[in-house]
Amino acid sequence: MRVLLVEDDPMLQAQLAEGVRSAGYAVDLASNGIDAHFMGDTEPYDAVVLDLGLPQMDGISVLRKWRSTARKMPVLILTARDGWHEKVAGIDAGADDYLTKPFHMEELLARLRALIRRAHGHASAELVCGPLTLDTRNQRAAVAGQALALTSHEYRVLAYLMHHPDQIISRHDLVEHLYAQDFDRDSNTIEVFIGRLRKKLPPGLIETVRGLGYRLTTPP
Ligand code: CA
Repeated sequence: MRVLLVEDDPMLQAQLAEGVRSAGYAVDLASNGIDAHFMGDTEPYDAVVLDLGLPQMDGISVLRKWRSTARKMPVLILTARDGWHEKVAGIDAGADDYLTKPFHMEELLARLRALIRRAHGHASAELVCGPLTLDTRNQRAAVAGQALALTSHEYRVLAYLMHHPDQIISRHDLVEHLYAQDFDRDSNTIEVFIGRLRKKLPPGLIETVRGLGYRLTTPP
């Protein structure tokens, strides 16, 4: 899952980036409203954390512009303490949730997980596909209750597939959603991660759809 973090305070941006990256997300950063709008308009983010007080273009305007062009990714806004009017304006502009500064990283991560899973129609933090379970709270996967040892990249691939069960996911989609913008992207590595995951999963769970991509199939 790939997240855009928009925050102009360098200290807070660095803290956010570290916290969100360590929770297993690929992270892109923006420090002003113009860059933020462009990135959210052109890249397929799974969620956005958007500060409202930003240089060049304020967060509410950024959000309104995205929504007016049907950019539907979940957006969590960061508002100042006592800024109830900002929350109202933000939600009316299309925010899906808000958090008041200062906040605990754990709360931000919980809200981010909830936004992402709801965007894909999942009600619970634990995703289930046949014998396979994935707990997005602690980044653990298990087969029939037995924990799987996954590298962080394998986890990211599996988490993306489990958020999209029974859908064909192309290698291009995986690259777009698993790596940050500045990352040296190589879609061949996706094949390697899929190969390694398959060795750890029950046979047949990750299907190759010729010429199109991969599909995590829910066993009947
Ligand atoms: Ca700010």
